[in-house]
Amino acid sequence: MRITWLGHAAFHIQAAGRDILVDPFWTGNPRFPQGYEDGLAKVDTIVLTHGHEDHLGDTVRLAKKYGATVVAQYEICMFVGGQGVERLEPMNTGGCIRRDGVRYCMVPAFHSSAVIRDGTPVTMGDPAGFVIEAEGTAVYHAGDTCVFSDMALIQRIHRPKVGLIPVGDRFTMGPETAALACNEFLDLEIVVPIHWGTFDLLHGDPHEFARLVRRGRVVILEPGQSLEV
Ligand SMILES: [Zn+2]
Repeated sequence: MRITWLGHAAFHIQAAGRDILVDPFWTGNPRFPQGYEDGLAKVDTIVLTHGHEDHLGDTVRLAKKYGATVVAQYEICMFVGGQGVERLEPMNTGGCIRRDGVRYCMVPAFHSSAVIRDGTPVTMGDPAGFVIEAEGTAVYHAGDTCVFSDMALIQRIHRPKVGLIPVGDRFTMGPETAALACNEFLDLEIVVPIHWGTFDLLHGDPHEFARLVRRGRVVILEPGQSLEV
C-alpha cells in the first residue's frame, strides 16, 4: 500500500491496483502539491469523511473527470448525486463494504458535517472516520474528531497498522489529545499527523505531537510525500 499526503486531510492511497482519494480538498488548499493531478491517470474511488468544504473539496469535479465512485455518508452521496456524480456507495456509521479487493469501514468521529448554501447550513449527515483495508493492511483515517475512548474499539475490530490523525487543534484534536489517542486507545505502528499547517487557524504543532507519542512511530510527511506500508 502506498499512501501519499496531499496536504490537510487529503490522501491518495494506492492498493490492490486501485487508486483511492480521501477528502480531495485540492482547489484552495495552499499546501496541495501543485501539478499532482497531471500525473494522476485514474481514480477509482473517492472516500469522504464529512461534508465540510475542506474535505468535500474537488470531489464532484474529480468524480466526473475520472468516473470515480464516491464512498460516503448517505446524505453526502445524495448531495453529490444531485450535482451529477453517477457512481455512489452510500454508507453509515458501523458499516463496511468491499469493492475491488478493498474494504471500506465507516467508523465514528465527533465533529459536524454541513455545507453552507445561501447562508444556511445544509446537513450532510454525521461525520465519520474510515478504515481502508487492502491486502491485509489497514489504514485508519480519523477524519476530523476529538479524542474518544471508543477509538480502542476501532483498533480492536479493524486492527489498523497506520493512522492518519488530525493534530491541528481548534477544529479537531491538538497535539496533546491526539497523542493521548495514540498512547491510550489506539495501537498503531505508524502515525501520520494531518489537518495541520494548512491555515494559520490550525496552530497544532506536529513536532510537539511526535514528542508526546510513545506508542507507534510518528512520520511527519510533506505534501506530495509517500509512505509505503
Ligand atoms: Zn476539516
